[in-house]
Amino acid sequence: MDETYRTKAIVLNRRPFNEDDTLVIIYSLDKGKLELVARGTRKIKSKLAGHLEPFCLAEIMVVRGRQYDYIGAAASENCYFNIKNNLAKIAAASQAINIFNRIIKPKQAEAEVFKLVKDFLDTLNRCLPVMVDQKLLANFFIFKLLIKLGHQPELYHCVKCRNKILPQGNKFDLAAGGLICQKCLTKFRSKNQLTISQNTIKILRLAEKSNFRELLKVKIDKKDEKEIKDIVGSFLNYHFF
Ligand SMILES: [Zn+2]
Repeated sequence: MDETYRTKAIVLNRRPFNEDDTLVIIYSLDKGKLELVARGTRKIKSKLAGHLEPFCLAEIMVVRGRQYDYIGAAASENCYFNIKNNLAKIAAASQAINIFNRIIKPKQAEAEVFKLVKDFLDTLNRCLPVMVDQKLLANFFIFKLLIKLGHQPELYHCVKCRNKILPQGNKFDLAAGGLICQKCLTKFRSKNQLTISQNTIKILRLAEKSNFRELLKVKIDKKDEKEIKDIVGSFLNYHFF
């Protein structure tokens, strides 16, 4: 086994550890989520600390240790300063990254998941604050993440009768994981079914297939925005919390 290795990583969180050290949680391209010790990073003169701030994309050299693995060196590739200079963007990035950190299992690398997190941060960093509700972008991230983690919602056929979804009277069934038609709702009504408009159905279908940059171009009114946040939040809670 190698004593050291290098990997590209996104910093998810960090907290004080011992007197001078920090425990840094990263999502790495090659090893997935890892907890690493960054020595001396609580000292004022630390050169390492600046490269290990939350949301930073960095190239990290990991040194294997007996009890913990250590960060031997780190060079930030993107610190996402436009996110850090805007409160709404910080709130959206924190919401997305905190949820990601809570639901992603340790030591399971997945290049597509890494790309999704990076794309989200890139888009949030670049977009004009007036262009989009930042929290909505975070919700699209969570929706796409749930799909990558195997919770693909059924948005085209009724989860009960399998008939094609018609434009009216549908609901989103959390337990069955998708849309339920008006006809089936008369037989299978439960508290785990949320109201969903035809517009929201279209937006979620688009969110499933499109990248974040394309989603920024979609005009979404306040009512649909609220519905999307409710459905994504409830879908997340139903499966993970
Ligand atoms: Zn049906």
